[in-house]
Order: sequence, then C-alpha cells, then structure tokens
Amino acid sequence: MKKRIFLLPIIILLLLSGGVYVARAEDGVTFAPTEVAIDFPNSITFDSRAVSADAGIVKAQFIYYLDRYGASDSTTRENIDIEPGKDVALYYQWDTHDSTIIPWAPIVYRWRVIDANGNRYESEPQRIEYKDTRFDWKERSGDNVTVLWHDKPDIFGDKVFAIAQKAIDRQRKLFGTNLAIPIRIIVYNNLGEFSDWHSVALDWVGGEAFPDFGVTTQIVTSKLPDSYWLNAVIPHEISHLYLYQAAYNPAAPVPVWLNEGIAQYNQFTDEGAESMVKRAARRGDLIPLTSLAAGFGQHDEARIRLSYAEGLSAVKYLVATYGEEGLARLMADYRKGLVTDDAFQDALGVSMGQFQQDWAEYVGAPAGSMITPTPWPLPTFPPTPTPMTFGDADAATPASPTQAPSPSPTSAAPASTATPPPTAAASTPIPPKDERQTPFCPGLFILLPIPLLAIFLRRT
Ligand SMILES: [Zn+2]
Repeated sequence: MKKRIFLLPIIILLLLSGGVYVARAEDGVTFAPTEVAIDFPNSITFDSRAVSADAGIVKAQFIYYLDRYGASDSTTRENIDIEPGKDVALYYQWDTHDSTIIPWAPIVYRWRVIDANGNRYESEPQRIEYKDTRFDWKERSGDNVTVLWHDKPDIFGDKVFAIAQKAIDRQRKLFGTNLAIPIRIIVYNNLGEFSDWHSVALDWVGGEAFPDFGVTTQIVTSKLPDSYWLNAVIPHEISHLYLYQAAYNPAAPVPVWLNEGIAQYNQFTDEGAESMVKRAARRGDLIPLTSLAAGFGQHDEARIRLSYAEGLSAVKYLVATYGEEGLARLMADYRKGLVTDDAFQDALGVSMGQFQQDWAEYVGAPAGSMITPTPWPLPTFPPTPTPMTFGDADAATPASPTQAPSPSPTSAAPASTATPPPTAAASTPIPPKDERQTPFCPGLFILLPIPLLAIFLRRT
C-alpha cells in the first residue's frame, strides 16, 4: 500500500512533464516500413501503413524537416487524407518543384496518427537523402568528403577527390578541429541540369555553396580536369564550408576579409596578391581591414580586388606572426561567440586595431598610418530611440552582393557570386544583371547570421 502512495505522484509527474504523451508503435499502432520514391527535382513521395490494435485511426500527419548543420530548420506538419479505420494507408507527396531543395539534402521524417480515443502514435524518425535521380552518378568517398560526378571519365572525379582530400587534411590542422559533418562536392556538366532544381530561373550561375549542408555544387563543362582551376576552387570552397563548421556562431560573425583571406590562403595556387598590397601600402591606399568586415562593396572592381589581396596578405601575416595555432585559437573563439575585438585579444593577445596597424607596417605602410578604430563609448545616459547605424549594418543585408577576383573557372571567364535566397525560400531578390558583371565568391556570405546559399556566377 505504501508503495502505491509513492508511485502515484511520480506517474502523474511523468505524464505532465512530457507535454503531449506520444506513444510508440509497440503501444498499439504498428507502422509499416515507408517506401520513398524520388522524382528529382519535382517531388518525393512517402508511402506507408499504420495498423491499430485498439481504437480506429481517425487522423494522420506527415512531419518532416531538412537536417541542416548549425542552424535549425523549421519542422513541417502536414495533415494527410486517410480512410479512418484500424488499418490505414499513409501517403504524402512533397512537391519540391517550386522550392530549391538541394541534391542529396538530408530529410528527417516521421508519421503521426491519432486514434478515436485521442491517443497519438508516432513512427520512429527516419533520415533519407534527396538524391538527384536524373543521372548515373559516379562517386568517390573518403572519411570526410564525397565527390559526385556523371558522364565524365573517372580521372575527373579522382582528381577532384585527391585535391579535396589534400585540402581537408591541411585545413584540419589550420582550423584545429575535425569536420563535424562530411563535405560533399557535386559536379554538374551544364547550366540546364543545374538550374532545373532551383525555384528561380538561372541563366548565369556557375556554382553554389551550402555551408549548413556541407555541400558545394559546381558546374564544370570540360570533360577533363583543369588542374589550375580545381586547385584554386576546390580548396577555396572547402575552406568556406570548413570555416563555417569550425567558427560559425550567429552572435559572432567572422569578418569577410578574414574568411576570404583564409579561403585564398588555403588554395593550392598562388594568387600573387602581395605586390598589389605593398603598392597600396606605399601610396597610403590600404583599405582598413575593419571596414572590410561585412563585405567588399559591389561596384568598384579595383577596390574589390585590393580587398581580396589584403585579406590574403593579412592572413599570411597572422600565420607568420602567431602561427597556425593562433589562427585555430581565433576560430575557436568565434565559435564560442567572442566578437572580433574580444576574439583577437583572447587568441592573439592584440586588439583588432593593433593587429591592423602591425600588419599595415609589415607590408610597408608608415608607422601609425592605419587609423585605430575608436571604440564605441558606452552611453552614460539612457539612449534615445534615435536609430543608429553601426558599421556592420551591411552584414545583415545578404542581398548586397560582394565580389571576388578568384577563383574563376578560366581566366577568360571571370566568376561571380550573388546572394540568392536561403535554401527553399525565394525571398531575396536576385541582383539585376548589370550588378553581376564582376566576379563574386560564394563563400562571402556563409557566416552571416542566416544560413545563406551563395551563388558562384560565371559570365558566359
Ligand atoms: Zn571565397
């Protein structure tokens, strides 16, 4: 008798604290294995049955979400039509035609049914990948990277894989951490097969980066590997994906100059940017790194090229002075949520302003020539509601395109990137064509607060 008195409150507590009590299959409803049929890029269908041992099933839902890394994805719950009874067919078709669901996107789904007594039952969550079923893909996989290509010789994929593996091994040391999720490189052969799975018509895209899926998709028209291009683009793209996993924290975005500088530092090609930076230093034309935190602008190509060169130069200086360990500490601090001033002070022992001055003098600028940014004073009175613009305002505006001179697929065809909408949402307008004339880099936006998809344009 005593035992029952003790047990009762515990049982009530469990029922209340769990919110909605969800019974599993063994409690009364059995779910048949789900058959999944993919018609990429149009739809994906899910087919199953639920059999109740008790009361009849009166309602059913299909519940699913895209399994992103480092960013939560909203869960979709769809009521589905059923014939009420003890044995019901479950069927859901997700029409992806008007969405941009990337190839091999991981989808987690489950079924939920409710019986006539109001009990809820759910199937175990399952994870599938939305494979691009249109082609006969070749694949090479290692521990941390998978390369997918089709209708090209094996030597092409082997080459991409070798470069990617080498890049990851090198970047593991630089970022000081293992990849949290593997990287996938998907190569398409032309614009048509690439743009078909986008919700907006594209006539100018050359590739994309999806850091929250660890995926980069590229268009490569040539059958054989172009070593120079692959040695630039593959490590550069992997760097952006890797950095996202090593340093992403929505509260502490990594400055664009640093992100792009690291990506170029990781390339297996020499960008030859040092002379441009030294010339600018001599002339007093260096752009302060602190004004390149949110982007490189969009109209002045010379300024953009100098911005990239400065990013690379500053990263080279950082590594030469503080070692790759210093860079790894810095990335870890961003990951922890330290903003740039705090992260530099903690990881390198210098303020951002001092680092900038030291680097400027290192490349030949006169002592003290780089203005040390003035810290924002704390208000000593209650702030008025007057809107204030801080320096990083542009960082929250993913629509503003920024640009990169590299990597470009061929020297004759400069590559560009714009900031298209986040996956599966066409909310961000695509820049007008005349703003897409100069090269962009897909990695520019990956550390902005929202997980962004970024498009790597090629002018053809
Ligand atoms: Zn980049």
